[in-house]
Amino acid sequence: MEQIKMTTPLVEMDGDEMTRILWQWIKDILITPYVALNTEYYDLGLENREKTKDQVTFDSAEATKKYGVAVKCATITPNAARMPEYNLSQMWKSPNGTIRAILDGTVFRTPILVSGITPYIPTWTQPITIARHAYGDVYKNTEMQVHGGKAELVYTDKEGNETRQTIYDFGDENGIIQGLHNRDKSIEGFARSCFNYALDVKQDLWFATKDTISKQYDHRFKDIFQEIFDAEYKERFEQAGIEYFYTLIDDAVARVIRSNGGYIWACKNYDGDVMSDMVSTAYGSLAMMTSVLVSPDGVYEYEAAHGTVQRHYYKHLKGEETSTNSVATIFAWSGALRKRGELDGNAALMEYADKLERATIQTIEDGVMTGDLYLLSSLPNKRKVNSREFLEEINTRLAALMQ
Ligand code: NAP
Ligand code: MG
Repeated sequence: MEQIKMTTPLVEMDGDEMTRILWQWIKDILITPYVALNTEYYDLGLENREKTKDQVTFDSAEATKKYGVAVKCATITPNAARMPEYNLSQMWKSPNGTIRAILDGTVFRTPILVSGITPYIPTWTQPITIARHAYGDVYKNTEMQVHGGKAELVYTDKEGNETRQTIYDFGDENGIIQGLHNRDKSIEGFARSCFNYALDVKQDLWFATKDTISKQYDHRFKDIFQEIFDAEYKERFEQAGIEYFYTLIDDAVARVIRSNGGYIWACKNYDGDVMSDMVSTAYGSLAMMTSVLVSPDGVYEYEAAHGTVQRHYYKHLKGEETSTNSVATIFAWSGALRKRGELDGNAALMEYADKLERATIQTIEDGVMTGDLYLLSSLPNKRKVNSREFLEEINTRLAALMQ
């Protein structure tokens, strides 16, 4: 069979530990037999980040801006224990944080549903995608404990004029205070990323804050979304037959639980942190969750939502068998290849991406799965396979679809 050609390179960001092993196997077993893979390769493995003083991470993000689409393997974010393990000169920052800051993007997380694994909320028959604003609020706060006295909010404008508001007069009491901020520009980018993504996947977009209580702060988020929607997206949403819907966060939570899924739920930074863990747990497994970073100007970076699966890697190094779930990493590849195909008008590449996903889901629905899913699946004929066998089983089905 002739390999599918790619006209524009895909930015490939390699990573660490067990996911690095899976990365190579996915390419060897599932991709290169079918696609003449054209990538610009960046090794974001911790050893190479140390060697390049993390320059490779910055370069990979710049390349993503240039070409528009990237696929990323999970990477180690160093902590104290990694310093001696990798002989690090510095505790390098999270590559995801660095890339997110350069692309100024919003992260969209979507569960991959398969039959035989029932969500804890059985009405959720379609995926719920969480879009989390990744800037500001409590993640960039200033806070302190106070011991009596009065706390005030002081703002100095560019001309040096001060505005003061009392936060609380503590008198003799002890207490706590906190200062938060966000930037209009960041909120606008968040809104555009969400509207663009909704148009991309043709799903309704929900957004919720607590604007009845936070009449300036949260209300500003609501207003910015509405202004941008009315000015730039309203007609396109109508044409696509989708809706933008704003409600209060507590109303949204109630509606989400009663819903069947099939929409995007945009969340402020903290809400997104909490709700994405709730949603992913309810659907079953972090290993079945994809993640894509979308910048406001339409640059895409695909990855799995889970980490490098360190415990499995140490087993692998000892020569023991592992049964690590590669589904989210496979879907990162298929998502990136499909997007590349879409941007380049490469129908064969898009079709291949669809078939790769179908073969992966078919494998699990046939009862062939890794250990994590084996524990969750209600299929009567389920069978646990090792990391490599799982990929080979997918390939058997993919080869048949590609005939
Ligand atoms: P993790 O790699 O997500 O793994 C935590 C546990 O979840 C694993 O030990 C395993 O449970 C289970 N698990 C996760 N993914 C799995 C998969 N694909 N198949 C089967 N089981 C899976 O998180 P971590 O152990 O907290 O972090 C390890 C490293 O990953 C850290 O250095 C962290 O910095 C990094 N990290 C990177 C990213 C990223 O690049 N996006 C995200 C998160 C964490 P059992 O051991 O019980 O089987
Ligand atoms: Mg969290």
